[in-house]
Amino acid sequence: MARSDYPITEEYQLSYEALQSTGNTLGNHVDHGAGISRQLIGEALRSRVEAINQDTCEVGDEDAFFVADLGEVYRQHLRWKNNLKRVTPHYAVKCNPDPQVLRLLSELGTGFDCASKTEIEQVLKIGVDPSRIIYAQPCKTKSYVRYAAQHGVKQMTFDNADELYKTKQLFPDAELYLRILTDDSASLCRLSQKFGAALESAVELLELAKKLELNVVGVAFHVGSGASDPKAFLKAVQDARFVFDQAASLGFNMHTLDVGGGFCGETFEAMAAVLSSALDAYFPPHIRVIGEPGRYYVSKAFTIACHVIARRTVADATLGTTSYMLYMNDGVYGNFSSIIFDHQNPVPRILQSSNGFAYDKHRSGYDTPSMTEYSIWGPTCDGIDVISSSCMFSETVDVGDWLYFEEMGAYTKCSATRFNGFTDSHDVLYVCSEPGASALLGL
Ligand SMILES: *Cc1c(COP(=O)(O)O)cnc(C)c1O
Repeated sequence: MARSDYPITEEYQLSYEALQSTGNTLGNHVDHGAGISRQLIGEALRSRVEAINQDTCEVGDEDAFFVADLGEVYRQHLRWKNNLKRVTPHYAVKCNPDPQVLRLLSELGTGFDCASKTEIEQVLKIGVDPSRIIYAQPCKTKSYVRYAAQHGVKQMTFDNADELYKTKQLFPDAELYLRILTDDSASLCRLSQKFGAALESAVELLELAKKLELNVVGVAFHVGSGASDPKAFLKAVQDARFVFDQAASLGFNMHTLDVGGGFCGETFEAMAAVLSSALDAYFPPHIRVIGEPGRYYVSKAFTIACHVIARRTVADATLGTTSYMLYMNDGVYGNFSSIIFDHQNPVPRILQSSNGFAYDKHRSGYDTPSMTEYSIWGPTCDGIDVISSSCMFSETVDVGDWLYFEEMGAYTKCSATRFNGFTDSHDVLYVCSEPGASALLGL
């Protein structure tokens, strides 16, 4: 059994072992699951889109909606266990606090990384023991610290002296992790500009913690969200070792290393390999290791469907070309907030047009001779609300047609606003391409 701080549930263990004992590689399993996944997602999209008549529906019935495949979250968990056995994942709730995702991860035995009172409350409410939560925000609101103390959420991070005084006042029994900064220059969203103590200041912070009789139990870092350089993990693990040794010389007995998040589906195996060997080189097996993956678990699991509310024809007389501006019912102030905050470029695909239902149809063969250029815009009155300034489709897209975008699970719905009176709450239709996950969820 993989080293884990929480017992792995029986169902999970069964399917995990079945996977190994049949000689199936995880790769085969994943390919199979991904095929079923597209089939289930396609069916859910089709039934919803076909049920909506835009000429007669109630206000909002034609709003954008998600289809979430919880089986994808489950497969990512197997993949984690296969590649990072030593690291217990604590899902970063901020990335997507979807209640079914949280429920599945809780059943799978992961921990949770929360950064506010509301996130802590949401996770506690589904029955997660407070010992499985880390309040991983180095700069905390006082009333939230009192809330954490009242509810037994002891693990929390800090990176400055003021936070130590605050902890002394409000929660002297907290189990503290010193967050150190990292080289996050190769990541999508840099975090170390805002958080993390420089290595040179670690010793002063530890001395202050000692003086205040606080309990520092480990080191935490984050290599940046959407990290792309595996070497960032090596350097961060080496720096963490340095701080562990400093702490030992001051009389602390650190027992846990928190390697943060930053993992992406595309580069996961390469990252995990570098991280695993760094851990084995610098941290003996009795040191507990936790991580805080967010994006990794949910990015691919969510697909969004949006409909075209308006279209403008743009004729260029000099070039003799015609292109179109499409206006959708969701944009950067809504679920496409990831374009602004997370530097994403979601890829538009046709879901439903006058040629019929087209999910998964244009995955290849896009280069037909008769391509038309489109730009895609959100529904608000702001010019910044653009989803794609140029994309090509081989068929005509009209008002009322539907588009879809894949990999919309991370940093999308959670940062949507209600700007201009548009909704920030969108339906999620759940499917599950893994029987193991369905069983855990009682679906
Ligand atoms: C945002 C965040 C995470 C999750 O990062 P991902 O890149 O989505 O894995 C983990 N830990 C902390 C402290 C964060 O701020």
